[in-house]
Amino acid sequence: MMAIQVAECGGPEKLQLAEIPVPQPGPGQALVKIANIGVNFIDIYFRTGLYKADLPFTPGMEASGVVEAVGEGVRDVSVGDRVAYAMQRGAYAEFAVVPAWQLVKIPSNVGFDLAAAAMLQGMTAHYLTHSTFPLSAGHTALIHAAAGGAGQLTVQMAKMRGARVIGTVGSAAKVEQAKAAGADHVILYNEQDFAAEAKALTGGKGVDVVYDSVGASTFQKSLDSLRPRGMMVTFGNASGPVPAVEPLLLNSKGSLFLTRPTLAHHCADKVELNWRAGDVLGWIAGGKLKVHIGGTYSLKEVGQAHIDLASRKTTGKLLLSL
Ligand code: NDP
Repeated sequence: MMAIQVAECGGPEKLQLAEIPVPQPGPGQALVKIANIGVNFIDIYFRTGLYKADLPFTPGMEASGVVEAVGEGVRDVSVGDRVAYAMQRGAYAEFAVVPAWQLVKIPSNVGFDLAAAAMLQGMTAHYLTHSTFPLSAGHTALIHAAAGGAGQLTVQMAKMRGARVIGTVGSAAKVEQAKAAGADHVILYNEQDFAAEAKALTGGKGVDVVYDSVGASTFQKSLDSLRPRGMMVTFGNASGPVPAVEPLLLNSKGSLFLTRPTLAHHCADKVELNWRAGDVLGWIAGGKLKVHIGGTYSLKEVGQAHIDLASRKTTGKLLLSL
């Protein structure tokens, strides 16, 4: 089969197309013939070496496709099922072996493209808005990179929960995307002081929660945007990882809460996975959640997809199509 291999960490040119054997499913595993692959910022972190993996490896944490074969003891899925999954590395390939419990059946009216586009960022938006800081009416959330893949879905789910949403975007071209997702206010954070704007929009009080996927460049001002005892959720490193923080800083900024969550710990068993993925795919099937696909590439064009995602030009989700 054809697959992308990374033999050494580095730039997008390290994503090499190679012919390797089709993997075989062991006990509890299924072989998936892949239709679409989601491109995520986490794939860039693994490629550059910010996140560690044994070399060589096949990147890609999310895909949709059809079950081709199952290993011993598999009861969750059968050959021929349309499935999607996230948080299992090796998706940049024609086939992938996945623990069967991690596979979720795709509703019949949802395409492979939308399913692959929604799993990772959709379940992330779900845990952020439902578990990390469960939003409800009366809350105001500040959501950075609101026109991005995770951003648009987080904005939509925050609105479903009844919260007021202040979104930030890096360019004027992205304002409409953030508004279309439901943001009540959109701040151009490269031009405006977003902490001052967030304070002004909340009558000087500050927001209840910041969902910050941008990392190094927004961290300090995100803390300044919060109300006393508000929650800072730093969940990504798009501009680089956040440096070390003194706990006393949280005291001086208003007894703040700080957390650095990851999806892996929010879909670690079948019950939680089914809750989050069931909601996300069900809302897409019912027309309640919109997934904006910002670009589709072939497997061999994946380097370009990484360049585009890192360049801040994209909105919504980037996909690979086989
Ligand atoms: P996005 O589609 O959001 O793309 C990244 C966006 O970040 C850019 O479009 C840009 O938007 C913004 N950005 C700000 N500064 C920079 C910079 N210096 N370089 C590049 N981009 C920058 O990507 P994803 O939806 O895939 O991921 C968003 C973030 O969420 C990532 O940090 C990712 O790691 C994180 N994430 C975390 C998860 C978790 O469980 N912890 C799970 C899923 C995603 P703009 O131009 O508007 O500034």
